[in-house]
Amino acid sequence: MSRSIAQLATPGVQTLRPYAPGKPLTELEREYGIVNAVKLASNENPLGPSPRVLEALRSGFDELARYPDGNGFELKTALAQRYGVDPAAITLGNGSNDVLELVARAFLLPGSSAVFSAHAFAVYPLVTQAIGARANVAAAHDGSDGPRYSHDLDAMLRAIDADTRVIFIANPNNPTGTWLDRAVLRAFVEAVPGHIIVVIDEAYFEYVSEPDYPDTTMWLADFPNLLVTRTFSKAYGLASLRVGYGISQGGLADVLNRVRQPFNVNSFAQLGAVAALGDEVHLHESVRTNQDGMRQLVDGVQALNLPYIPSVGNFLCVDVGRDPGDVYEALLHEGVIVRPVDNYAMPGHLRISIGLQEENQRFLQALDKVLAA
Ligand SMILES: *Cc1c(COP(=O)(O)O)cnc(C)c1O
Repeated sequence: MSRSIAQLATPGVQTLRPYAPGKPLTELEREYGIVNAVKLASNENPLGPSPRVLEALRSGFDELARYPDGNGFELKTALAQRYGVDPAAITLGNGSNDVLELVARAFLLPGSSAVFSAHAFAVYPLVTQAIGARANVAAAHDGSDGPRYSHDLDAMLRAIDADTRVIFIANPNNPTGTWLDRAVLRAFVEAVPGHIIVVIDEAYFEYVSEPDYPDTTMWLADFPNLLVTRTFSKAYGLASLRVGYGISQGGLADVLNRVRQPFNVNSFAQLGAVAALGDEVHLHESVRTNQDGMRQLVDGVQALNLPYIPSVGNFLCVDVGRDPGDVYEALLHEGVIVRPVDNYAMPGHLRISIGLQEENQRFLQALDKVLAA
């Protein structure tokens, strides 16, 4: 028998390229012997979580031997209150990535298709391909009719075919940082046939202050096929705990909860998320830190004459004007971890997460040095 194990996997899995996360600081230390490095690679909150989260996690240790509440009662109640919805409208996930995967598992089959934009978040093609469903990738704006690399909703409508069951939209999108305004996005959701699930991924919702940026949770009553996903990983600073959620009408949440693993969100994540929701002051401080850092980074790359994609997230894509893999590698040697985006078809670009002022400064100085060499 000459077959490899990989050849026994389903066709989608055979050709799947796993998600490439940002390089952990410990790995840089191990591989390069570099200490005191800064990581601006995974869109994490540089302030960390609210101190209230740390406090809340203590009580988790008393219950370490117990399974978590599989129904997430406290967290769902807190979220339901926040959004003025029924707790049954909420689906908790092991990060919002988990919720994206639940959608694929519940609504896609080999033979069906999912629609998303070019340069969109890498998890959409991954969950689609793992099922063996087809990805209908819509070309993004080329810069003539909307910001370059941003979602082109007309092209996405045209990408819908008879087999389409799911549409993924990131607003704002990662890694581009581009966003869709209220009128355009609302018209799109209205134009999509009701048998197609529309996922609006708002992982960076809390950071966006543009007046025309929509809070699509306000639209849920109008669309039984709409799912809005958000996360505690970004602005709330809880990436390590893995907790996110979807909000929809109860019917859609019921379907997603059927395929959800019963204990997908652990007790610490539930405790931490509830505490994080209760600290608005820390959230505001996080957002302000991001706004200041974004200005600093934009000013810095402009001073280096480098083009960038205007971003409303907590990260910035910069065109470094040469092989970004080389620049990435050289930055590692300077103790600065950023994110290559070679899997996103954006030649020349690197993505930099907004850090603390001194971290941003460290990156800008390292970039200046690397580009001058
Ligand atoms: C980071 C991110 C997520 C989800 O992250 P989780 O940690 O799984 O909640 C989802 N969508 C986009 C666009 C992201 O950038």
